[in-house]
Amino acid sequence: MALFKKKKDYIRITPNRNDAPQNEPAVPDNLWAKCPSCKKMIYTKEIGQEKTCPNCGYNFRISAWERLALIVDEKSFYEWDNDFETKDPLAFPNYQEKIKQMQAKTHLHEAVLTGKATIQNQAVAIGIMDASFIMGSMGTVVGEKITRLFEKATEQRLPVVLFTASGGARMQEGIFSLMQMAKISAAVKRHSNAQLLYLTVLTDPTTGGVTASFAMQGDIILAEPQALIGFAGRRVIEQTLKQALPDDFQKAEFLLAHGFVDQIVNRCDLRDKISHLLKLHTQKGWMTHE
Ligand SMILES: [Zn+2]
Repeated sequence: MALFKKKKDYIRITPNRNDAPQNEPAVPDNLWAKCPSCKKMIYTKEIGQEKTCPNCGYNFRISAWERLALIVDEKSFYEWDNDFETKDPLAFPNYQEKIKQMQAKTHLHEAVLTGKATIQNQAVAIGIMDASFIMGSMGTVVGEKITRLFEKATEQRLPVVLFTASGGARMQEGIFSLMQMAKISAAVKRHSNAQLLYLTVLTDPTTGGVTASFAMQGDIILAEPQALIGFAGRRVIEQTLKQALPDDFQKAEFLLAHGFVDQIVNRCDLRDKISHLLKLHTQKGWMTHE
């Protein structure tokens, strides 16, 4: 059993991948991983491309690029708006350095990836947030990219599929970050007025200003199993209410039971589910005035 006691013999796939060593792949081959949900040791090989626990189905966090590979048709993705520069309006200490580090680590320009692609041959505007980029927080560039995603989708008459993963507003940009909520919401409304479908998939974690705006504005809201979804943190709510909260509070299953989520879909079924919903809702005459 010594194998299991020595830390270097396995890599724990941390829920917060910011903790992962910089130059190490998150899921190395031929190593052990410990599932944070069922606590069992599993071969990282068994986690597969979808990165789910073979014992309990726990969904490990995945990057925006990994998500893209799981959802869209091969070689169909065309990236939009990947050249905005993140400004530092508050002169926040080390913010610019942090952005550069994150860009190098995640191969992303900012905490959201946006563009156009096809899902089982159906054209969509797609956005994928990445929790490993400063907790997927929403700064000015993230807000602008998501706004343009909706604007381009409206122009090109495309449905929007958006995967959310965020700690909320980006504190390093203060009030400029909060303003993104209203800006994106306005673009979502214009897209909706054009009778186009907006589908959100809430992934772990979807919190703060993202939950309070576009994550919850989808025509159809899906979620991954056990994803943390909420606005304020559990501790803050408990301290304010002076009440203990249920164990599954702010989990996807709790939100489904209380009507905030339409369906919980396993990661391995997501592509087919999204494709099916697109087919149903974008057929000629279905969601138009004709
Ligand atoms: Zn497990």
